Amino acid sequence: MASSSLPDHVRVAIIGSGFAGLGAAIALGRAGIEYVVLERADDLGGTWRDNQYPGCRCDVPSHLYSFSFAPNPEWSETYSPQPEIWEYLRRTAAQHEVTANIRFEHEVHEARFDPTARRWALDTAGGHLTADVVILGNGPLAEPAVPDLPGLDRFEGTMFHSAHWDHDHDLSGERVAVIGTGASAIQFVPEIQPQVAHLTVFQRTPPWIVPHRNRRITRAERALYRRARRPALRAPSSTGAGSCSSPGCSATPARSTRSRSWPVAISTSR
Ligand SMILES: Cc1cc2nc3c(=O)[nH]c(=O)nc-3n(C[C@H](O)[C@H](O)[C@H](O)COP(=O)(O)OP(=O)(O)OC[C@H]3O[C@@H](n4cnc5c(N)ncnc54)[C@H](O)[C@@H]3O)c2cc1C
Repeated sequence: MASSSLPDHVRVAIIGSGFAGLGAAIALGRAGIEYVVLERADDLGGTWRDNQYPGCRCDVPSHLYSFSFAPNPEWSETYSPQPEIWEYLRRTAAQHEVTANIRFEHEVHEARFDPTARRWALDTAGGHLTADVVILGNGPLAEPAVPDLPGLDRFEGTMFHSAHWDHDHDLSGERVAVIGTGASAIQFVPEIQPQVAHLTVFQRTPPWIVPHRNRRITRAERALYRRARRPALRAPSSTGAGSCSSPGCSATPARSTRSRSWPVAISTSR
């Protein structure tokens, strides 16, 4: 995705383009405050860009796992799958004219506050800039945690983390070990179990689980949601700087209240 050049100085630099970074950008745009989003990847979406394992979906209801200012009457399921959530983020960013203000492939390597100049100096993969304010939207779970297991580097089978699912590797008929029983494993283990020859799941701490009552949202329900949707809040100007005229104009992303363990799927050839 193309990125235009960095400004020398910006009022607000936002690091990351997941729910948090996008929500902050939209709120700033509405308030008429100049900003730029610095994203290390080549697309937006954070969690919902990176996690593409089988069965990936939100585990709080979709109508709650949405921006308060951008309700989506089109969710197809009560707990919608990852592609739909990623598309929702891309659509919302485009509608609020944030995408043009994102500098992709601009990983932030260092941020230093200069107390004399009273501004931040940021070094990124795409150059240097200064900012009055830095907002960290770089994500609590953006770095996949691979366990430090002795001998892991000598494992000769295929190994990948669920956050970087290897879709080129066909698990059919293979012996597979999954490390971890957190929210991701809970979603993909039932998906791969019918496919593999043998599955071993290693669990350190058992999580609490309640039945996942996902279901399709009917056409009639979607029509009702469309009618109930609040009128769209004022769109920002083409520079990404608009104003927030509504008291309901908050940009608080859904809050994650639970920890997530990071399983590694390890498969060996039979
Ligand atoms: C599979 C999965 C399912 C989840 N389901 C739910 C759920 O149902 N409900 C819930 O409440 N929470 C859920 N979560 C938690 C989820 O992470 C948060 O809800 C939310 O998406 C986090 O958004 P974020 O913007 O803070 O971070 P992220 O989405 O992680 O975005 C961070 C962004 O910052 C970028 N970045 C990181 N470092 C740098 C850097 N140095 N320079 C530039 N860019 C950088 C990353 O590339 C990324 O795009 C889930 C998490 C996972 C992994």
